[in-house]
Amino acid sequence: MRLHIDRSIQSICNRSNTHPIVANIHQNIKKIREDGTVDITWVKGHAGSAGNEAADAAAKCAANLKKNFDYTKFPISFVKAKIKKDNLYKWQNRYHSAPQGKHTKQLLPDLFSIKRLWKTTKIDFKLTQILTGHGFHREYLYRFKISNTDTCPCNNHSVQNIDHLLKCCPRFGAQRMEHELHCQMLKVSPYNIQELVTKESAIISFVKYASYIIDKLKSFNSI
Ligand SMILES: [Zn+2]
Repeated sequence: MRLHIDRSIQSICNRSNTHPIVANIHQNIKKIREDGTVDITWVKGHAGSAGNEAADAAAKCAANLKKNFDYTKFPISFVKAKIKKDNLYKWQNRYHSAPQGKHTKQLLPDLFSIKRLWKTTKIDFKLTQILTGHGFHREYLYRFKISNTDTCPCNNHSVQNIDHLLKCCPRFGAQRMEHELHCQMLKVSPYNIQELVTKESAIISFVKYASYIIDKLKSFNSI
């Protein structure tokens, strides 16, 4: 500490030192000298000296006032990564708190799974229907008065929504069994997209199964 302070005093005493802090001190000394003299003396820390305590308090106060980050102290890639992370966090919160997309959020609960799905899968019109719950299934058509019933032709009492088509409807039993057996072999849950995207062949199997349902849905519903 002594060495550090000695160097500071040496820097101040060097009139040709152009460091911004030293230059600022030189300017202040010049102003003070218009009315008197200036003596620079090293004072031992925590000596109980009133002047030293006042200098400590002023230094702490100045440090607290300095709120702007010094961007020259870390690489620009760090700043970019930080901004990206903050934006993802804000986006995630907005996605979670939005009142719309309840069905989509059940399948894709976070942005991580959406990003993984984008990377691994071509999201086409068929898959969009499965992910958004907006399509040719009767629950949706009934809501918009396009169909006079929301029940599935397989038994005429189950509501035909995406969940029913994917997990229960006997019309797609053979394809479902194929997909579920494949997922069982890979040890991933067959309808959890967060897990499916971790294994390439699992998400491919899901997309194939989902696309098959959408392909057959219109004729199944006699549209
Ligand atoms: Zn059905």
